[in-house]
Amino acid sequence: PGLGGGILGVTPFPSSMSYIYQKRWVKLDSDYLRYFDSEKDTYSKRFIPVSSISRIASIGDQKFEVITNNRNFVFRAESDADRNEWIRTLQQIAEERRSKERLSMSPTANGAADPADKSGFLELRGFKHKLFVAVAGDKVFLYKNAEDYRLGIGITYIEMNVGNVKEVDRRGFDLTTPYRIFSFSADSEQEKEEWVEAMQQCIAEALSNSEVAERIWAVESNRFCADCGSPKPDWASINLCVVICKRCAGEHRGLGPGITKVRSLKMDRKVWTEELIQLFHHIGNAVANRFWAANVPPSEAIAPPSSSQERRRFLIAKYREGKYRRYHPLFGNQEELDRALCAAVTTSDLAETQALLFCGAAVTCATGDPQCPTPLALAEKSGQRLQMEFLLHNKTSETPRLELGGSEDKPYSVPLPSVTHNGFLYKTPSMAKPVGERKGQEEFSRRWCTLQDGVLSYYENDRNAVPNGEVKAEEIVCLASNPPHAHGIENTFEVYIESERLYLFGLESPDAAREWLKSIAKSFVHPCAEELLALDFQRIGRLHYKGGLNLERAEEGWFALAGSALHVCVPGSERQEPLQLRKLQELSIQGDNEVLVLVERRRTLYIQGERKLDFLGWVQAIQKAAGSAGDTLSEQQLTESDVPLLVDRCIDYITQCGLTSEGIYRKSGQNSKTTSLLEMLRRDARSVRLKEGEHQVDDVANTLKRFFRDLGDGLFTGRWGPDWLWATALEDEEEKIGEYRRLLGTLPTVNRATLKALINHLFRVQLFSGENQMNTHNLAIVFGPTLFQTDGKDYKAGRVVEDLISHYVKIFNVNDQEMKKQQDEIMAIMKMREAASSGTQQAGDFICTVYLEEKKTEAEQHIKIPATMTAEELTFEILDRRKIVMKEKDYWSCFEVNEREEAERPLHYSEKVLPILHSLGTESYLVVKKQMSMENMLVYLASRVGDCKHGMMKFREERNLLGLGLSTGFHDRYFILNHTCLRLYKEVRSHKPEKEWPVRNLKVYLGIKRKLRPPTCWGFTVFYETEKHEKQQWYLCCDTQADLREWFATFLHAQNGGALWPSETSKVRASRWQQDSRLGNISLIPLRGNESEMRNSVAAFATDPLTLLRNV
Ligand SMILES: [Zn+2]
Repeated sequence: PGLGGGILGVTPFPSSMSYIYQKRWVKLDSDYLRYFDSEKDTYSKRFIPVSSISRIASIGDQKFEVITNNRNFVFRAESDADRNEWIRTLQQIAEERRSKERLSMSPTANGAADPADKSGFLELRGFKHKLFVAVAGDKVFLYKNAEDYRLGIGITYIEMNVGNVKEVDRRGFDLTTPYRIFSFSADSEQEKEEWVEAMQQCIAEALSNSEVAERIWAVESNRFCADCGSPKPDWASINLCVVICKRCAGEHRGLGPGITKVRSLKMDRKVWTEELIQLFHHIGNAVANRFWAANVPPSEAIAPPSSSQERRRFLIAKYREGKYRRYHPLFGNQEELDRALCAAVTTSDLAETQALLFCGAAVTCATGDPQCPTPLALAEKSGQRLQMEFLLHNKTSETPRLELGGSEDKPYSVPLPSVTHNGFLYKTPSMAKPVGERKGQEEFSRRWCTLQDGVLSYYENDRNAVPNGEVKAEEIVCLASNPPHAHGIENTFEVYIESERLYLFGLESPDAAREWLKSIAKSFVHPCAEELLALDFQRIGRLHYKGGLNLERAEEGWFALAGSALHVCVPGSERQEPLQLRKLQELSIQGDNEVLVLVERRRTLYIQGERKLDFLGWVQAIQKAAGSAGDTLSEQQLTESDVPLLVDRCIDYITQCGLTSEGIYRKSGQNSKTTSLLEMLRRDARSVRLKEGEHQVDDVANTLKRFFRDLGDGLFTGRWGPDWLWATALEDEEEKIGEYRRLLGTLPTVNRATLKALINHLFRVQLFSGENQMNTHNLAIVFGPTLFQTDGKDYKAGRVVEDLISHYVKIFNVNDQEMKKQQDEIMAIMKMREAASSGTQQAGDFICTVYLEEKKTEAEQHIKIPATMTAEELTFEILDRRKIVMKEKDYWSCFEVNEREEAERPLHYSEKVLPILHSLGTESYLVVKKQMSMENMLVYLASRVGDCKHGMMKFREERNLLGLGLSTGFHDRYFILNHTCLRLYKEVRSHKPEKEWPVRNLKVYLGIKRKLRPPTCWGFTVFYETEKHEKQQWYLCCDTQADLREWFATFLHAQNGGALWPSETSKVRASRWQQDSRLGNISLIPLRGNESEMRNSVAAFATDPLTLLRNV
């Protein structure tokens, strides 16, 4: 509604009686009345904001007048009827606008647009006089002069979602759109730089996702700031459930997160779950203000033009003091309030919960119900999802109190320390992308910079009073120091701000750069994370993360990266040990650069990419810090016990597959394979999994030797190596051992741990010398020169190794308990070997946790997965353990569940489980349950003709993190699926498919994560891996359940040559692999899985002493 278009005669300035009418195309929408030269034009000759129209009057034949506060416009229609139609529409739209503004209690002054981010005069090619230009929100407005700008009546505006800005020469720059190029020229180079920056920011804003905003704004009252009434507010307080404008949001932030948690509708995409959006539909500005603004004296209310001081005063009174709120009748009676809260959360009455909570009811009050001890649990039990959402966001909210307001001088609940620092810095224009390439010295300009009162400002020079630009400390999310010489200026650092921009600063002197870094960090890092400031950090900032016991909800924490340690500070929690990145068990990225997963032995941390720019910087820095830094031992990725991961991986593999291999460590492997394996392990040992069949024992053995031979500074170190060799001359055995022990004590920790691990390994290898022919002497001949990096002509080096193996127990102080472990381990290995040679046992079995029916602790089964085990065998094994009999038409199957994608895939009965386990991410697990749709799928397949299916489905591609502007959401597409490929057509009539995928490379999961808001609940998540191992992910949605079933059945049919269900299951049952209960819990491959899975597996192992084998 409210859209009008048509040809009218217009006289722009009816100053005299003799009007001259020109034919114009006139367009009316809810915001503007505009006229154009022709219907085809994109840019108007003039726009009049609807909000500035005070009256529309009919003035005789076919004519009407649009009256604004300052200027009148006369239009002539083709006929009286047409004229009347225009008047009616205009009046209606103007009235709607006025009532909206009344609702929000704040008249927009003269219809002026949003406060401009930048405004001023610019030359525009094609215009004689300079124009007044304003960059505001996601548009650039052109006005004839400053007076028109004040009145809000302009020439045209440019929607910047299609804009592109390019610098042309010293003062000139082009704003290019598909319809026209605007060639501007500024007064100075400096001015130009600022205009370009402002317009680029404007483009970024226009491109940022407005999907959430559109949905929130669907409710009328949410279209105006809850506090000042500005239109199109795109920020929100997610605990108060109010939608607010950018300027109010700035002041909200000052109140602290205990009062209001500020998020952007457009930039903080991750926050906006379906529940939260619903909550804003149910509470939102209308319900919230009925409570918070029940008694606002007109003299205290604020409006869009209010100053920031006025806003601050009002917001403190409104939310921190609760001065205007509607008091709940139970106010003051804590017990009654709490009781009422417990009752309210079980109903859908959110307004009541709001009133109770902000009048003093305790969000964590005792309910007296042991089953549901908190109001949150009560809400959950009653199925009140929105109540839960509301309570969760207000978990830490403070109750408003009048005395909280305090004096005007202390408006911030958590005042950031005020840091003052100033000096000259080199600076480049701000960027919306990572600094990709080296910036030459000429790309920096020297600026006078000051850091004062929480604002970093930069000036043309130290005599200027007006800054060229500023960055508020509270907007800074990350500060990163670059390595020296990264750019043309020797020392540089980057400042990242909340709205996805980054500033690059530089300095000649490293000390001065450090000084700036510390000062800036101090100005934005929350006082709770003060300890991070003392570190020699390369990167510091705030990020959203999940970890520890709270995996439901991401929280904000402060992070600092110093060397290879990642320090974490969480408000309100104890100090945490830093994560040693080189010792991580896993470091991976999930989704499309969305979550960084760090797995340590004791904890798992998920860092979320709330904003993309600083997150990408963190990911790169963490990956780099977690890799090996050089060729000495201590620079490698390490295990928990300080042994290089590379060494650990090789030893583990040889122990598992090569102890009895003849000539192990003496035979040389293939040179090329050794070289490439060593390179792979050196680059990132963490991600390398050595697998039997894929890697040869001798290649791995050779890799380990090569590593030690090439090691920087050697295992025995350059300093102490000669002393070890010298010790071999000692004749008295006891004296010699004593000297070895002394020397061992002088080695750095990592060298000592590595030497012990290696000698322990060789000790075990020689125990099998009967089979592998490698006794202590033979091993010493190989390892002596390798470890001492000598040519081997002299046996002294070999002697050291021989002594170390022979006197292993004494030299390394191995006690009885450890020795017992060793013996048990050897026994276990022998048993494994015997079992393997008798054909009943495969080496390299894998223990994993499988759930029965659903993921919960009681449903856990720890099961050993031999390489040959199929999904069907696994299913039977689990059912057997629980004594469940499979009845006919009980389609028990094994499913792979991906929690992050909220999707699952039934494994085909003949699929091998082990490779799937290896490929499972930390958020996936296996569960055995009935496949409910199998019967229907079998019936469908039996009844149809041919083996293909075609029809419409809704299609969505996974959004690329950096792919701004890519299409999102689900779109109708036509699909054809046959036994070889799946084809996508733009529409039914299309001849050529837009895309085509081979069926065998697709992995089809049932379900789509809710976050994507699929249009129906019958969807698939599809993964596609190309021959080059590139991964793609997309989503399909069907209209009905039957449709989904048919597509899925067709997929399964195509992928498995028609067999969906085994015809005769008894065969499998009879020949099923027999479990050896004694060895059932041994794993020689490090386990993967999420924290709880690991914990559970480890707990299971602890009951069996043989499992200690892993901890060598
Ligand atoms: Zn506002």
